[in-house]
Amino acid sequence: MIKYLDLQKINDSFEPDLTSAVNRVTHSGWYLLGTELNKFENEFAKYCGVSYCVGVGNGLDALTLILMSYISMGRIKEGSEVIVPANTYIASILSIMRAGLKPVLCEPEWETCNIDPKKIESLITKKTSAVMVVHLYGRLCKMKEISELCKKRGLLVIEDCAQAHGAKNKDGQCAGNLGDAAGFSFYPGKNLGALGDAGAVTTNDKDLAERVRMLSNYGSSEKYVHPYIGVNSRLDEIQAAALMVKLPRLDADNDRRKYVASRYINEIKNEKITLPVKDTSHVFHVFTIFTSDRDELKSHLEKCGVQTLVHYPIPPHHQDALKDYSNLSFPITERIHREELSLPISPVMTDDEISHVIESVNNF
Ligand SMILES: *Cc1c(COP(=O)(O)O)cnc(C)c1O
Repeated sequence: MIKYLDLQKINDSFEPDLTSAVNRVTHSGWYLLGTELNKFENEFAKYCGVSYCVGVGNGLDALTLILMSYISMGRIKEGSEVIVPANTYIASILSIMRAGLKPVLCEPEWETCNIDPKKIESLITKKTSAVMVVHLYGRLCKMKEISELCKKRGLLVIEDCAQAHGAKNKDGQCAGNLGDAAGFSFYPGKNLGALGDAGAVTTNDKDLAERVRMLSNYGSSEKYVHPYIGVNSRLDEIQAAALMVKLPRLDADNDRRKYVASRYINEIKNEKITLPVKDTSHVFHVFTIFTSDRDELKSHLEKCGVQTLVHYPIPPHHQDALKDYSNLSFPITERIHREELSLPISPVMTDDEISHVIESVNNF
């Protein structure tokens, strides 16, 4: 069986460095807010080309803390609206709700599956405070159009980079440096994955970075001094040390993902299947194909020994958690959820495995 994502093989490929980093922290006697975190924050900020990086507990918290911080700084009004793609992993939307703000869902483009810049403007009201873009599946959103619009209308741009570590635009600018602030997830299966939950905020705004740091640590400015109502959401030393082992290989790992994707795009030939449109920014966290016979294709591939996933089976506005949105219609979002199938993709896939996936898809 070709696994959808062989995390064991991925992490084994970082040995013995990964275990030795974990052991170093285990025996250091210091587990939170120490030198490992400091080092990773500096290196990840440098990697993204931003001035500041603040490690937090996970990706959902990273996005939530950005919004909470803007509210705390008076730059986002309590209860205001945030435009977010209807086609995303539900966490993007939950972060807005958790910050006490109102998500306003926007249709994606069918070709890119990302938020449609042309549809944002009609959703802007007096209450809109920000646009949260999601570089879904690893493909950058059309940031030039979106940034220009948001600048003109005085809106903040927040990037959900949970699937786009290391995605770069044509000018070499990196995800995490394309808006006012960005949230990253280092969930184990992401392109840069920890050994448990972890996340980070990147920004060039010093005040925002400081506020996120305080709010993520009980709202404290220094030990036992609490000017703000905060939460506890920190990136621990073991995760920071593990991420520091993996970060130097992120570009090479993304290149290998791009290689797998280019083989799929060039060699999959099946009239029933739509392949993703080419885009040099895409770091292929997920390799998406589309077919109206999705469930049949999934079971065909299963029989061929190819494990696949669906990203995602139920759109957010059809989830019980978002009952208030259930009467809305998002035909493109719904089509993506109906037709999408994700093929195995990872930096450790062998050429034989890639060939077997291609052959199995072509036989459908
Ligand atoms: C994974 C993911 C998140 C949430 O990250 P966690 O670290 O699991 O909280 C948010 N948005 C998107 C698009 C994701 O894929």
